[in-house]
Amino acid sequence: MRAQLEIFTLNFFQHELLIALREWLALEFNLHSLESSFSFSLDESFDPARRQYHATRIWEQVLKARQGSHHKLLVITEYDLFIPVLTFVFGEAQLGGRAGIVSICRLLESFYGLVPNQDLLFQRLCKEVVHELGHLYGLRHCYMPSCVMGPSTTVERVDAKEWKFCPECLETFARAREDLAMKLSHTPPKKR
Ligand SMILES: [Zn+2]
Ligand SMILES: [Zn+2]
Repeated sequence: MRAQLEIFTLNFFQHELLIALREWLALEFNLHSLESSFSFSLDESFDPARRQYHATRIWEQVLKARQGSHHKLLVITEYDLFIPVLTFVFGEAQLGGRAGIVSICRLLESFYGLVPNQDLLFQRLCKEVVHELGHLYGLRHCYMPSCVMGPSTTVERVDAKEWKFCPECLETFARAREDLAMKLSHTPPKKR
């Protein structure tokens, strides 16, 4: 099966979680992924005053490095992320684009001084990854209660959402995926 998603880890050491995530994406969304390594330069993305990393400046690096590839590109990190207009973000992705990022920093119970909970962390990670994938496939925020495309402003909001798209978002997502599949299958094979 041809991979559609390339996953890059940055300061992320929960390999079992990543394997489970990839299996789940394949099973639930027929979205096949591969893991890639990349040496990120963090000088441009780390903000010493905020002690956080600029989300956009991280995913831009893989986007630049993978020009000409059809894969969606997703960075998963434990670094705390921000974009200038917000105190923090759980993730960020290009709308209808190719690259995005998800951070587990604030999905960890330990961030809030609570006892670690791997099951809860996995659920949260899946939701945030699907949310950012939704953006990559052109979905905007959705205000249907429980839809995974609801904005994630707090971890409580993340927990309140489901890991699934509402029917309308699912239709848009499926349509975008079909377009992609057609584009891929109509790419003439290259002569070596
Ligand atoms: Zn969003
Ligand atoms: Zn929705």
